[in-house]
Amino acid sequence: MSKLRAAAAGGLRRGSRRAASPAGQRRKGVSPRGGTPASAPAPPPAQHLFSDPAEIQALRGNLLAWYDKCKRDLPWRTLAATEPDADRRAYAVWVSEIMLQQTQVATVVDYYNRWMQKWPTLQALAQASLEEVNELWAGLGYYSRGKRLQEAAKKVVSELASRMPRTAEDLQKLLPGVGRYTAGAIASISYGQATGVVDGNVVRVLCRLRCIGADSSSPAVTDWLWDMANAVVDRKRPGDFNQAMMELGATVCVPKAPLCGECPVKKQCRARQRAKKELALASEKLLGKPTPVPDVEDCGVGDCPLCPPAAEPWDSSLGVTNFPRKAAKKQPRAARTATCVLERRGCHGAPEYLIVQRPSSGLLAGLWEFPSLPMAQGLQEEKQREALADYLQAWMGHPVAAAGLQFVGEVVHIFSHIHQTYVVYSLPLDGDVTWDSASSPSRWVTEEEFQTSAVSTAMKKVL
Ligand code: SF4
Repeated sequence: MSKLRAAAAGGLRRGSRRAASPAGQRRKGVSPRGGTPASAPAPPPAQHLFSDPAEIQALRGNLLAWYDKCKRDLPWRTLAATEPDADRRAYAVWVSEIMLQQTQVATVVDYYNRWMQKWPTLQALAQASLEEVNELWAGLGYYSRGKRLQEAAKKVVSELASRMPRTAEDLQKLLPGVGRYTAGAIASISYGQATGVVDGNVVRVLCRLRCIGADSSSPAVTDWLWDMANAVVDRKRPGDFNQAMMELGATVCVPKAPLCGECPVKKQCRARQRAKKELALASEKLLGKPTPVPDVEDCGVGDCPLCPPAAEPWDSSLGVTNFPRKAAKKQPRAARTATCVLERRGCHGAPEYLIVQRPSSGLLAGLWEFPSLPMAQGLQEEKQREALADYLQAWMGHPVAAAGLQFVGEVVHIFSHIHQTYVVYSLPLDGDVTWDSASSPSRWVTEEEFQTSAVSTAMKKVL
């Protein structure tokens, strides 16, 4: 039992085992033979724990009552609540969880409905082609998600006799692309397993509830948050509790201007208490009153691994949004790609465009795009145009003069880790050309066909 679970169950026990937890790091001095500790271990900082069972009960009750009243009506919630078959229910939750990774709820709803209509069961998805999956996924981003979902569905059908694993542990172990969060979400929502989940919204809510200001993406804090989520999850309604935590983070405890006045768990929120206290201290200081001695439960004075770093003390302009803190985001890498829209007149006079398929692995795997060539940064425009003309000529079996490429403009698209600039050219063609199929599959499409093909949002911007 971890310290946090022990705390949830009614107080901390000395010697509970958890070497990797932040508090565990403080436990130096345990005798090598595993006997009596050389000195009493430091208890975990009280303000970062849920150690009072009554408080945990209140948190669960308040949150679930609010969720029952205020939750958004979402198609996957309806399916999870009404589908009697456990495999179909788990599949429905799984699809929603994968789509919701990195994508807003409002965008996902329409994709989800179309997906479930087309592939209502695991078996139906297992029979789909990757091309169909990519077509439906087009525009949702992070395309490997759809591909992995389908691969996993095939595995469940062929290796597990179409039966979804029934616990979070097995889901994570047996399904490719299913990590700890997704496994916990499926198991708690579909099967009622009392297991917590930690996603971006839950990180924010928990860090505020317990004043955790150390880098929330660090392994030690992540570990701590998972323990806390498992400790507080409601035993009778784990799926609803987990969804309520995420809903709270998405609609009330939002990143920049949380609606603390409307928050159902404001009484349990230590960030709110801290913000009030700091405000009161600031007023007293203004009035010239002496600064009070810090409370013994206050952290941040010493080396608490869960408090904000000493170099980044409390910022009064941020209030509760002092929590959580994140490490500086890595800047996306800049990349340039020359891309050419080859256009011809189709049989009815409408324009048609040549698209080619990307390789089956890597960024935008298997999607279709206008013929494109990555360019070195800082390459002169003339050289860029020449390189693109050579590239087109090599695959078209058709002479292409660099001067014939018309510069159209630049399109910027931000992938999660790449700041991509497409330098767009167009090349109107009189006759037909063929693309060497040895390089990659290609086809001519009308604008309408282009829009329904498995093309990325970036390519839609290019067109
Ligand atoms: Fe978030 Fe404010 Fe609620 Fe605390 S009181 S959990 S900061 S919305």
